[in-house]
Amino acid sequence: MKQQSKKKQNSNTRIKHSRRHPDNSELFWCSKCLKYKKKKDFHKHNEMNYGISGICKKCSAKVDKESLRKRIEKNPNYYSDIYAKLKKENPNYSKDKHKRDLELNPQLTEERRKKHVENLSDSYIKNILVKQKNKTPITKKAIETKRREMVAWRISVKLRKLMKKDRQMVRTVRQHPNNPNLLWCGACLKYIEAEKFNNDSSKKDGKTSQCKKCSILKTKKRDAKRLADNPNYYKEREKKKLAKNPNYYKEREEKRLAGNPNYYKEIDAKRLAKNPNYYKEKRERFKAKNPGYAKAAYEKLIKNNPDYLKTLYAKKLARNPNYYKEKEAKRLAKNPNYYREREERKLAKNPNYYREKYLRNLAKNPNYYREKETRKIAENPNYYKDRNLKRLEKDPDYYKKLRKKRLDKDPDCRKKEYQKSKMKNPYFGRDIYRKRSADLTDTYVRILIKGRKANIPLTNEIIEIVRQQLIAKRTLKEFRRWRKDNEPGSQNVSG
Ligand SMILES: [Zn+2]
Ligand SMILES: [Zn+2]
Repeated sequence: MKQQSKKKQNSNTRIKHSRRHPDNSELFWCSKCLKYKKKKDFHKHNEMNYGISGICKKCSAKVDKESLRKRIEKNPNYYSDIYAKLKKENPNYSKDKHKRDLELNPQLTEERRKKHVENLSDSYIKNILVKQKNKTPITKKAIETKRREMVAWRISVKLRKLMKKDRQMVRTVRQHPNNPNLLWCGACLKYIEAEKFNNDSSKKDGKTSQCKKCSILKTKKRDAKRLADNPNYYKEREKKKLAKNPNYYKEREEKRLAGNPNYYKEIDAKRLAKNPNYYKEKRERFKAKNPGYAKAAYEKLIKNNPDYLKTLYAKKLARNPNYYKEKEAKRLAKNPNYYREREERKLAKNPNYYREKYLRNLAKNPNYYREKETRKIAENPNYYKDRNLKRLEKDPDYYKKLRKKRLDKDPDCRKKEYQKSKMKNPYFGRDIYRKRSADLTDTYVRILIKGRKANIPLTNEIIEIVRQQLIAKRTLKEFRRWRKDNEPGSQNVSG
């Protein structure tokens, strides 16, 4: 017993020690392929002598492959079982793994994907079959059939490309033999003016092979077929593109505008030419489909950017200084009572509308109304007169009623107003009287006639006659004064 163990230990140490080449200390023995190899040809193995595995890398790969083959032989569903287990633990296993790989090494992942696509690997075809939602089971035979189909399709694409190149080479033949401005349309089989073809920079003569009309027809047919197969075809395609590239719309817009700066304007014009209410109808269709959307979107916008309206109108004014004037004119052209109706609506909603508006304006600017009146007088020196006339035209008793209303509220209001004005200017009453008297205003003349108590009707004509009388009297008085100052001898003019 003791001898046996000693013998075993001896043989072990003998093998271990003999792994190193007797003459070259850099070479080690592989017990599988029975050769000496360099240290780097072995996998690392910390628990073994020299810190390397007993067999070389090549042999261990062979062993692994063989054991895997045996396992698959034993269980044909070996991989799918592992995958099912992983998938059971995490339903997003594939996606997560792909993401992880992409993060760890994007280049390698992309290369691996390309290889799958290039080699038409089982997993790649399987993925396609899964996405196609074919109800046939994904068996080895199904994968092989699909692979053959894809190979055939790829060959046909290559052929088509080659043919296209050939066609490009002989395209100059399209020109009309006598008129170089005419080109052959391959669809309607006619010679047509060159400007009736779309531009195509990939073609030798810079024009498409079919005329505009035929291209449109072809596109329409293709669209109809796609939509017949799948009504959401274009929506899904956009979604896919957006998923691949979050800037898809932005880039598309930039590309379109780079090609034609008026791209969107032209589309708008075309649509509106076909149907002037195109955008209105579209908006209404959308509104009917999504009730409440506009309001919610607007509220969100204002919440994200409280100055939205301010900046918007500032922009509009910068573009067109008459923006508000034009807008107002448009509204009034549509409905002359627009503003009145709007005010009435607001007043019906809120009886204190005017008062609140007044206070709001004053809170914004204490001189709001004063400045407004100054502005209006600068625009029209007869502003007050015009305003009064307008009011009287609407209601001949406007001022009478206003006075009565004020007196009803406060019988002493006139006195108070007078005193208030007097406080501001001690000569208030006198100043007004002097001004009226100097200008011989209607009011002045009217008061004068009333003071005579002659019971004359106060018509405009009579006021004018009395005014002329007063002017004559004043002129005479002035003349007398002048004579008194300049001709000391004379005493009166009369006679
Ligand atoms: Zn080996
Ligand atoms: Zn054509």
